[in-house]
Amino acid sequence: MYPDEFEYHSADSVESAVSLLAENPDAELIAGGHSLLPTMKSGLASPDALVDISGVDGLDGVERDGDSTQIGAMTTYAEVADDDQFWEDATVVAETAGEIGDRQVRNRGTVGGNIAHADPASDLPGAMLAADATVHVHGPDGERAIEIDDFFQGMYATAAGEEEVVTGVEVPHEDDDTASGYVKKPSPSSGYAMVGVAARLALDGDTVTDARVAANGVMDHGTRLSGAEDALEGETLDADAVEAAGAAAGDDLDEYMVMEDQQASAEFRLQLLSVYTERALEKTRFVCRSGRCEDARYGPVGREIRRPGGDYVCIVNYPCLLAAFGGSLRQGLPASVTRFADTVVASTASAVSTGVDSE
Ligand SMILES: Cc1cc2nc3c(=O)[nH]c(=O)nc-3n(C[C@H](O)[C@H](O)[C@H](O)COP(=O)(O)OP(=O)(O)OC[C@H]3O[C@@H](n4cnc5c(N)ncnc54)[C@H](O)[C@@H]3O)c2cc1C
Repeated sequence: MYPDEFEYHSADSVESAVSLLAENPDAELIAGGHSLLPTMKSGLASPDALVDISGVDGLDGVERDGDSTQIGAMTTYAEVADDDQFWEDATVVAETAGEIGDRQVRNRGTVGGNIAHADPASDLPGAMLAADATVHVHGPDGERAIEIDDFFQGMYATAAGEEEVVTGVEVPHEDDDTASGYVKKPSPSSGYAMVGVAARLALDGDTVTDARVAANGVMDHGTRLSGAEDALEGETLDADAVEAAGAAAGDDLDEYMVMEDQQASAEFRLQLLSVYTERALEKTRFVCRSGRCEDARYGPVGREIRRPGGDYVCIVNYPCLLAAFGGSLRQGLPASVTRFADTVVASTASAVSTGVDSE
């Protein structure tokens, strides 16, 4: 289908984008266009005008400042996922960015567009909630910062005003005592998250001192899982705590508001939520706390190897795989995991040595 006719404006600064939005009340910002254009082509949206912010200086790129990183709104997922330093400083966000769509989507879709669009099945909202991010917006009254816990307000609804531009997201750095991870059950048709769970845990030795666990795809917007968080805080991060947190993941959610569609009933989504919460926490337990993946970048090979596994998804790329399974950590893992890893080592090693890119 073709979209209805619209005017096109190219903004050259954040201020001009804000003015163009004020002058054109039915205008929409366009960033990567990967959500907006399909909705326009299918007739679900027909803005009178588009305000293109792709040429605005200063909206893209990543800036590090002491203990946090500022991600410009126009920064693509690929820029985040391909940035080694990001894997050190904000693993849960880097890992999630690498899980979005396919390479084409990651090369085009933007961090600002993803969270501003607030699709309930998008991947980044859960990661940003787990990461305790702050969203920066610029509107007619100037700049303001919105805590991520206040940002997502409903399906495609955020705390940013109609005439405000999301300019960036600030993510506090993870330190050596932080464990984090993201897992998702992708929709078989679209790759969006049927359920995705992000976790970031602060640890004192083995004890969880602070837990931020959040999900996409379950409610009408990205949501903290306070049941899982409460089950973890003050506990030793062991298999029992992980199981208890998985069981409690849906406790504080309004069961009448759980998403239900052609892909999954609400009941099935809650089951997935429990399982994927456990998997996200297992991932923090086996990989991020191992200290063996510090120099490893989770990359494209990882996306491929996690699919056939199904039961365990703690290993996400070739160097990490070797690092994690090459030594003593292997001893502590269930036989199903080591069997799976052996198969994957063999197949990814051959893919890497023959220069085959899984993407
Ligand atoms: C085939 C395919 C697969 C996909 N798979 C996934 C997936 O697995 N996971 C996932 O999370 N997403 C997925 N997406 C969606 C993709 O991530 C989009 O890029 C994202 O949802 C929107 O970002 P964008 O930059 O493309 O925004 P656009 O499409 O340009 O804009 C989306 C909306 O956000 C508004 N907007 C954009 N930028 C700003 C800003 N800076 N300030 C305020 N408002 C703004 C626009 O006005 C518009 O209403 C997929 C998309 C496609 C086409």
